[in-house]
Amino acid sequence: MTTDTTDTLDLPAALGGTPAFPDGLPLTRVRVPDRAALLERLGTVLDSGQLTNGRTVAELEEAAAELLEVPHVVAVSNCTTGLMLVLQAAGVDDRRPVVMPGFTFSATAHAAHWAGGTPVFAEAREQDITLDPEDAAARLAAADRPAALMATHVYGTPCQVERLQEVADAAGVPLVYDSAHGFGSRRRGVPIGTFGYAEVFSLSPTKVVVAGEGGLVATRDADLARRLRTARDYGNPGDYDTLFPGLNARMSELHAAVGLNWLAGLPERVAHRSALVKEFAAVTAGLPGLRLALPEEGDTSTFKDLTLILDAAAFGLTSRQLADALRAEGIDSRRYFHPPVQRQRAYAHLGQAESLPLTDRLAESVLTVPLWSQMDAATVRRIADAVVRIQPYAERLRAA
Ligand SMILES: *Cc1c(COP(=O)(O)O)cnc(C)c1O
Repeated sequence: MTTDTTDTLDLPAALGGTPAFPDGLPLTRVRVPDRAALLERLGTVLDSGQLTNGRTVAELEEAAAELLEVPHVVAVSNCTTGLMLVLQAAGVDDRRPVVMPGFTFSATAHAAHWAGGTPVFAEAREQDITLDPEDAAARLAAADRPAALMATHVYGTPCQVERLQEVADAAGVPLVYDSAHGFGSRRRGVPIGTFGYAEVFSLSPTKVVVAGEGGLVATRDADLARRLRTARDYGNPGDYDTLFPGLNARMSELHAAVGLNWLAGLPERVAHRSALVKEFAAVTAGLPGLRLALPEEGDTSTFKDLTLILDAAAFGLTSRQLADALRAEGIDSRRYFHPPVQRQRAYAHLGQAESLPLTDRLAESVLTVPLWSQMDAATVRRIADAVVRIQPYAERLRAA
């Protein structure tokens, strides 16, 4: 093995080459889209003296409803509380089963638990790791008095919404979407936010639309929207004679101001993220054992995450080993979602840890690499180049 400069440049950093990002590249970088406009909006809120239950939340709800092409949007304190209140409204109680993917963020299951249900985990689809409708149907059929079906638009990839609705209808349960990643996604041209009983978005800082903390419930159901406005305010209809045990799940005016700011220019940012993913795919095309979590042809993903799916035998490295090699390059990564929820300690008592072999394998295979809305094409190409440079050295990296 020679040690001339060219060779050193081509070596992965883990084997002594020059790191692709000597200063480091974080998974996400949150930058307020239009700072001047935001400061002005915040000034207006402060001047009004009303920091909650004011006009800004209503404005955010209207702007979101217009973008999502849905009649009702109710702002809440975060996606988790939004899901809890929707599931409560859907009649989840008595620890009845709520069928949901194992491959999702823990909050999907936590919401069902807090609403009074019991998670029953179902498999993911091999192609895109969203909920497998057929496996969900089987688990609904096997469940005793199932109360609801939940599905997650993982990474912003639209679920099989048509088939999932058929499955939910056949089982006689409401379909609730954890759409935390999906603000700006489209299924066959139709915005995510219009499907099922309700869809709940997250506006926390790792998502594509950010309010600092926050959630939005989108629904076509006027009764649900009305109930949620009461539910987020302790269940108080206005006379302090509460109708049911609600929550304080209000969004503050300050958060709504941040969220409104983030909505402006969203379609352009989503298109830009798609273009970056295309760049990444072009550079890494042909690498053995590597594919990306992509939406179906004709669908739009927010690409909340740019996630690689590795076949470790063909690629030569596991996702964990690739993460180590990328760390040496200065590139941050995460195994979203590992461990899958059915394997997490919080749900060990349910005895479902061994119930999802395909989800287990997929969760072992995924690795999310940095992507953010202001990233330039050169940066995403450099991340992709690093993966391309690492792969031929897989054997030496395994030995290192
Ligand atoms: C972030 C996230 C949530 C939780 O959102 P919060 O707004 O933090 O409550 C729920 N589900 C998924 C899939 C998420 O990624």
